[in-house]
Amino acid sequence: MPKVSPKLASAVKCSDEFNAEACMHCGICTAVCPMGYEILPRKLFRYVQIGLEDKVREHVSDIYSCLLCGMCAENCPAKVNIADNVRFLRKYINENEFNLS
Ligand code: SF4
Ligand code: SF4
Repeated sequence: MPKVSPKLASAVKCSDEFNAEACMHCGICTAVCPMGYEILPRKLFRYVQIGLEDKVREHVSDIYSCLLCGMCAENCPAKVNIADNVRFLRKYINENEFNLS
């Protein structure tokens, strides 16, 4: 049974720039991503929004392998700030998983 953390989304969303909730799952970001990421942002940020912290933890290496190149956001029809959202998520993991501040 997955553990749900209701406060995860508000903890990650420390700025109005975080707008993962605008994603409409069209898949364009995956098509243009040089890393071929399907997890970022279509699934990963859904996990954040519904509080599935364990699922987020499973993908830490993807979160830190993203190039932050912005190709995805540039082509996103919903104007999701994907690379910035990844940065916010890294900040959360740095502080809460690795105890870095
Ligand atoms: S391109 Fe934008 S709206 Fe489409 S799946 Fe990716 S983040 Fe969501
Ligand atoms: S910012 Fe990350 S997820 Fe987006 S296209 Fe670049 S490598 Fe892929």
